[in-house]
Amino acid sequence: MIQDSETLSILLSTIARFVRERLIPNEEVVAETDEIPADIVHEMKATGLFGLTIPQAYGGFELTMEEEVLAMLELGRASPAFRSLIGTTLGIGSQGILLDGTEEQKRKYLPRLATGELIAAFALTEPDAGSDAVSLRTRAVCDGDHYVVNGTKRFITNAAQAGIFTLLARTGSEPKGAAGISAFIVEAATPGITLGKRDRKMGQRGAHTCDVIFNNCRIPVANLIGGVEGQGFKTAMKVLDKGRIHIAAICVAVAGRMLDEALRYALERQQFGKPIAEFQLIQAMLADSKAEIYAARSMVIDAARRRDEGLDVSTEASCAKLFASEMCGRVADRAVQIFGGSGYVSDHGIERFYRDVRLFRIYEGTSQIQQLVIARNMIRAERA
Ligand SMILES: Cc1cc2nc3c(=O)[nH]c(=O)nc-3n(C[C@H](O)[C@H](O)[C@H](O)COP(=O)(O)OP(=O)(O)OC[C@H]3O[C@@H](n4cnc5c(N)ncnc54)[C@H](O)[C@@H]3O)c2cc1C
Repeated sequence: MIQDSETLSILLSTIARFVRERLIPNEEVVAETDEIPADIVHEMKATGLFGLTIPQAYGGFELTMEEEVLAMLELGRASPAFRSLIGTTLGIGSQGILLDGTEEQKRKYLPRLATGELIAAFALTEPDAGSDAVSLRTRAVCDGDHYVVNGTKRFITNAAQAGIFTLLARTGSEPKGAAGISAFIVEAATPGITLGKRDRKMGQRGAHTCDVIFNNCRIPVANLIGGVEGQGFKTAMKVLDKGRIHIAAICVAVAGRMLDEALRYALERQQFGKPIAEFQLIQAMLADSKAEIYAARSMVIDAARRRDEGLDVSTEASCAKLFASEMCGRVADRAVQIFGGSGYVSDHGIERFYRDVRLFRIYEGTSQIQQLVIARNMIRAERA
């Protein structure tokens, strides 16, 4: 954990400078080529971005949730594709090992994840199991000192770059339900793994997803996370609670970037003899966006602090993700509107952000799933 505020502020200003000087100037290149340039990836590793959340004992920065959120409020100002490359390694791909892994598993994988030598991906979703993740069908059958895995995972971010997958699969005799799901660390080089073709997405060019197909893939028993069957769904939900706060922070950051661009444009663009920023209908869009970003930021920080205090943040994480991702969509829409025709064509990058941020309302639990989680927790608490 970064104990002193000076170290944290150096880290945050390093990220802010990296975003300003390296990531933002390369946004167009990434959008055109659908790749993050190798020198940028190298610099992301050198800056320690892959290890932000990994304990210092394994070579990371060991940021608290609040500190991670502050870092994402800086990093998230650049195109979301940059965040996506590190996101699965510092978040959903590694947290299962970190939260529930054995000491041996942590020692084996976390140091290489912290440096970015190893990229982690998170493989939960399947063709027939999205929001209803409990219905996943990928099976891991114990055979001596291995599990034999068969199944297909869908939309897996960074699958092509991944050195390891945190895989959720069904084990034992439980044909249904969360109790039959276990989490595994699967090395990407294991025979029996093939990747589908790269998905053609609406936005976030430079961030890649594809199917991951497991065909009689043999995984050592030692790679069952925590060494216990049936705990995988609980692990996945803990990972997602954290991931939702992280994504909410990114939504706040990217909304802030879009609003800054919209304000600048509104001050420059003249119609009817004056800057459009002087029209009250434009001001309403700017002001609503500012207020909503502030509200989302406050929620994200509060949820992060509660998590750092060791509280159950299932409700707060879902509230933050729901509000921040929906807010981000509204801000993107207003930004396009403020830019007018220039917002619809690609010259200013605003239409790119509009497409990029649409994803935030879908992955790591859709907005509807966040609503269900919040309401379910409310009802459960009232009945308790
Ligand atoms: C670019 C991208 C990256 C991704 N990365 C990963 C990754 O790295 N790892 C991973 O495991 N997954 C990943 N996903 C998968 C993502 O988490 C799922 O797409 C998401 O959870 C939704 O599942 P689905 O697509 O199957 O939609 P569905 O579950 O089929 O949902 C379709 C619609 O029905 C609604 N719906 C479903 N159930 C209910 C209900 N009970 N009540 C009300 N409405 C409901 C949903 O909200 C949605 O609007 C990624 C997806 C994308 C697009």
